[in-house]
Amino acid sequence: MNDTKLVYLKNNERTIIQVGNVKFGNDFVVIAGPCSVESEKQMIKIAHAVKAAGANMLRGGAFKPRSSPYSFQGLGLKGLKILEKAREETSLPIVSEVLDTRDVAWMREYVDVLQIGTRNMQNFSLLKEVAKSDKPVLLKRGMYSTLSEWLNCAEYILSGGNPNVILCERGIRTFETYTRNTLDLSAIPAIKELTHLPIIVDPAHATGKASLIPSMSLAAVASGADGLLLEVHTNPKEALSDKEQTLTPKQFSELTKKIRDLKIFMEGLN
Ligand code: PEP
Ligand code: MN
Repeated sequence: MNDTKLVYLKNNERTIIQVGNVKFGNDFVVIAGPCSVESEKQMIKIAHAVKAAGANMLRGGAFKPRSSPYSFQGLGLKGLKILEKAREETSLPIVSEVLDTRDVAWMREYVDVLQIGTRNMQNFSLLKEVAKSDKPVLLKRGMYSTLSEWLNCAEYILSGGNPNVILCERGIRTFETYTRNTLDLSAIPAIKELTHLPIIVDPAHATGKASLIPSMSLAAVASGADGLLLEVHTNPKEALSDKEQTLTPKQFSELTKKIRDLKIFMEGLN
C-alpha cells in the first residue's frame, strides 16, 4: 500500500519547488528573519540585514502559536502587511505561519509560502485547506512525530492537490532538557531516501540556544539539507519571542559565509 503513496521517492525523481527566483531541491535556500513580526521598523531593518548577509527568503510570524495565552500572540493582519512591505523593499519572498483554516485563503495574498508549525503538523483540517492553496507549504515536523507520521501529513497535502511541500526538521522532544528539542540530523538523509520532497532544517527551534546554531547548521548542510531556517533579529535581547535562539545579523552573516565555504568544499568531494 505504502508505495502507492504520492510522497514516496520513485525513480529518483525529485520535486523542485520554485519560490521567487530560488528553487528548493536545487539551490541551497537560506530563510531568515525574526521569530515574530513586531513592528514595521524592526521588520524592514532585519529584512535588509538578512538580505545583505545572503538570505534568499524572509520569515516572520504574524500568528504565533504560544505555549501561554499571555505571551505575545503576533500582529495578525498588520504583521502580514508589514511582511508585504518588507518583500517590496527587498524582493525576498515571504514565509509565515498559518494557524487557522479560516486564514488560509486570504493569507495567500501576503505570503509566498505557507508555514505549518510543529503543533499543527497533524491538524488534518488545516492540511486539507492548504492542499487547496496554490502556495507551497513549509511543513514542519511534529515535535512528537515519526518520519512516517510526518510523511503521511505531507501526503494529505499532495493528495489534496498541492504538489509543493517543503519539509522542515525542527527537532523532536526527547528526555534531554539542556536543548529545547533534539535535532534529528539523521532525518535528513532518511527523508532523502524516502521521499522526493525537499527538506530544510531549523536549528533554532531544535536547540533553543544561539550558541549551538552555527555548528548544527553546518552539520545540516553536511547531512544533505536543502536549506536552513534561522531566526535573526537586530536586537535579540529585545525580541518578543524566542530571543535565546535568535542570531544577530553579524552572527548570521558569519554563518552564511561558513555555509558557502562548506558547500564549496562539499562540491569538491563529489
Ligand atoms: C516558528 O517557526 O517560529 C515556530 C513557532 O516554529 P515551530 O512550529 O517549529 O515551533
Ligand atoms: Mn520562533
